[in-house]
Amino acid sequence: MTTIRKHEVTLISGDGTGPELAEQAKRVLDILGKKYGFMISWDILDAGFAVFQKTGIALPQEVITSIKKTKVVLKAPITTPVGKGFRSINVELRHLFDLYQNIRPAKSYSGVQSRYKNIDLVIFRENTDDIYIGVEFEHGKAETVELIKTIQNLNPAGKKIADDSGISIKPISIEKSRRIVKAAFEYAVKHGRKKITAVHKANIMKHTDGLFLQTAQEIAKEYPHIEFTDCIVDNMCMQLVQKPELYDVLVLPNLYGDIISDLCAGLVGGLGITAGANIGDGCAMFEAVHGSAPKYAGLNKVNPSAFLFACKMMLEYLGEEKAAFALELAIAAVIAEGKYVTYDLKHDRNDPTAVGTKEMTDAIIDVVIK
Ligand code: NAD
Repeated sequence: MTTIRKHEVTLISGDGTGPELAEQAKRVLDILGKKYGFMISWDILDAGFAVFQKTGIALPQEVITSIKKTKVVLKAPITTPVGKGFRSINVELRHLFDLYQNIRPAKSYSGVQSRYKNIDLVIFRENTDDIYIGVEFEHGKAETVELIKTIQNLNPAGKKIADDSGISIKPISIEKSRRIVKAAFEYAVKHGRKKITAVHKANIMKHTDGLFLQTAQEIAKEYPHIEFTDCIVDNMCMQLVQKPELYDVLVLPNLYGDIISDLCAGLVGGLGITAGANIGDGCAMFEAVHGSAPKYAGLNKVNPSAFLFACKMMLEYLGEEKAAFALELAIAAVIAEGKYVTYDLKHDRNDPTAVGTKEMTDAIIDVVIK
């Protein structure tokens, strides 16, 4: 008798087009479970803008309690109001569960319009350190002026910070650098990747990016079978645009990781197909890179691929590699055929033969169950 493997997942339905994507993703995962011998026990909850409007709380305690129990989150896109309302749920969850690895694959798929054909990159962005920690001092405030004076007094080179400056603090720690670089190497070992490139600006920021690079070089020595290189971030941008096929796994501090991962998404055809994972020690969250596309909410319009690629990453994390592989093949096949795809994957965005979110998912399911 074969035993069914059981997994618990917290599904956050999100805002805008999020609920439609979540519904389709759940359908696909349940079908994959039947075929490959696992069952996901879903804890379906709401967080985000709609909940905030109803209750005044964007991230309800029951969601946090659920994640503490399941330790795996599939999160549909959430609307974040600009300049007011609540702090990004992504940022909140990354912080609460110390999800320090942001992993973003950027891979070419036949049928997606893009300038390149043979890209297969994985970006490891550090998620918890760097200028994103949010310690900032507003220009002109008494404490900022005081801070400038203190820095000025400590500054041996006597370089002048203008009195009317605002200040953002950029810490880079050895431990946080170590754990992200280690995660990138471990990923490379597990997935048969050959080369890791650490990206930095150590020529200018010697005590922060320099520390990141030095830590990466130390860890690289533990993995002699994996090629290790480093690249200054501005040069990296040029290299990626000119010859992206030469790169494999990139590991970066938070800010460069944020920018370069979007650049890489652009290289392979953009938002509709790009997913990401936020992983900590014993807890992980998977999501599409795109937002809630509110103008298409309820219209059965948006491309389900990015969110389904996030599901594929989640299956790998859960140890369901066969199902993950089958899902990737099925999405790739439907995109390559180009028949049952959403408007954004058609050459002409007004192509009347474009199908909806559900119909594209149906086509993917048809391939999965064949
Ligand atoms: P967006 O990604 O929602 O949309 C940008 C453009 O891409 C729009 O034209 C949209 O229609 C299109 N698009 C997005 N996803 C698509 C898909 N799957 N298929 C086809 N087309 C797609 O970005 P935005 O409009 O800047 O943001 C909308 C909301 O989403 C904002 O509140 C923002 O804060 C939030 N957001 C959330 C996340 C997240 O939850 N991970 C990420 C980014 C933005």
